[in-house]
Amino acid sequence: MADTQHNNYMAGEWRPGVDTVDNRNPSDLSDSLGTFAQADAAQTHEAIAAARGAQPEWARTGLEVRYNALLAIGSELMTRAEELGRELSREEGKPLAEGKGEVYRAGQFFHYYAAEVHRQIGDVADSVRPGIEVLAQREPVGVVGVISPWNFPLATAVWKIAPALAFGNAVIWKPANLVPASAWHFAEIISRQGLPAGVFNLVMGRGSEVGDTLVGSADVDAITFTGSVETGRRVGLRAMQNLTRVQMEMGSKNPLVVLDDADLDTAVQCAFAGGYSGTGQKCTASSRLIVTAGIHDRFVEALAERLAAARVGHALDPDTDIGPVVDAGQLQSDLDWIETARREGATVAVGGERVSADTEGYFLQPTLFTGTRNDMTINQEEMFGPMASVIRVKDADEALATANATRFGLTAGIITESLAAANTFRRRARFGCTMVNLPTAGTDYHVPFGGRGESSYGPREQGQYAREFYTQVKTSYVRTGEG
Ligand code: NAP
Repeated sequence: MADTQHNNYMAGEWRPGVDTVDNRNPSDLSDSLGTFAQADAAQTHEAIAAARGAQPEWARTGLEVRYNALLAIGSELMTRAEELGRELSREEGKPLAEGKGEVYRAGQFFHYYAAEVHRQIGDVADSVRPGIEVLAQREPVGVVGVISPWNFPLATAVWKIAPALAFGNAVIWKPANLVPASAWHFAEIISRQGLPAGVFNLVMGRGSEVGDTLVGSADVDAITFTGSVETGRRVGLRAMQNLTRVQMEMGSKNPLVVLDDADLDTAVQCAFAGGYSGTGQKCTASSRLIVTAGIHDRFVEALAERLAAARVGHALDPDTDIGPVVDAGQLQSDLDWIETARREGATVAVGGERVSADTEGYFLQPTLFTGTRNDMTINQEEMFGPMASVIRVKDADEALATANATRFGLTAGIITESLAAANTFRRRARFGCTMVNLPTAGTDYHVPFGGRGESSYGPREQGQYAREFYTQVKTSYVRTGEG
């Protein structure tokens, strides 16, 4: 699809924008995935109007129509996971297996929410007044604006779009501008499902224009956003001007605690998978490795060995463990963090340098900082690269206190053989998700996902909890007419 133009999908039609962006492969800057439309504010308003017009019809559509549409979308994503995963890895830079896995997972979200279409069952109660019955039923919220980040081009959007459609809402999706190809392929699948024109709209364009227009529109009933805290704060404040319903998943600084009694192989495997898969560009990445004194040196040595053996390279090379970072800006930001770490007195124990490969891309060595303290900037701010810090602590109590000393609260993990220590951590860690002897990254699709503190705002995403955001409750009182 190189050199081809990809339009927006609005009101049931493919429409050019007012401009285009070129989509480059971060593993090979000579490789273009094509050009992609850029909408402006006026076109975004057209998409909002189309969604408004189509939503009532979609809400009235029979459940089996919605079920069949969601099932078909999910099945096609799963069947084409290899092909679309390749495109996803080509544009985002995550290794091929992760790209394929993300597309397959997107299909699973659709299958899960296809089943939820049939589970929209309300409550019936007798009134406190005789001869009156009360019904509590869920109805769609209306028009939902979906704003997603680049690091999971498909998954973060699909776990919003699938429940939004399942519960009878219309959707306008603004994907991150760095990854429009995955969004375009997804829209192309939806465009063939016979949905009423305007029920699903893809509006590619700049966040400051398309995103801002969606968030500021009084005709959008709900905004679901995943991205950085900085943007989220702006989105939340702006949405509040119209009292628009808003849900946000944002940044993090996730700890992985390793206690003295941990199985060393499990600890290293979890630190590697949690901190460096997806090039560390995951909201669930464990960037703080909090390690008790008795295992500290052995852990650092074993993790350093694992990192040294990791192959950094082209995302589509099957031997690659760690792909490129997403773009030049992210690479510079990562290199700046490495300088900050040095300035703050951390030791760069592994990595810290750019890597050259056969192709020109944004490759960075997996990097490990040791001798760090939790109050250093590198342990308080999200870095979002293939980097993690080791923080030495004396025991489990200090590890828990250190893990909780953050303004974020998405995921937290512990590696230990002690059931008591694991349970204490699981219950007292102030995070939305806790993991025992598992990496901090890697979650299921049928259970709630979300964080605390500055990591999240609003109801949980995923599983049955998603209905809190995508539906609103109506209470009806009915005189039964009984004598
Ligand atoms: P970002 O810069 O905040 O962008 C997120 C989305 O917001 C993009 O689509 C962006 O569009 C759009 N946007 C930018 N300015 C906007 C505005 N003024 N109004 C409305 N929308 C606007 O985040 P990112 O760099 O793409 O993603 C990385 C961040 O996402 C990290 O902080 C990561 O932790 C977080 N994340 C969190 C989760 C979670 O579930 N907690 C999951 C994945 C990622 P453009 O692309 O056009 O700028």
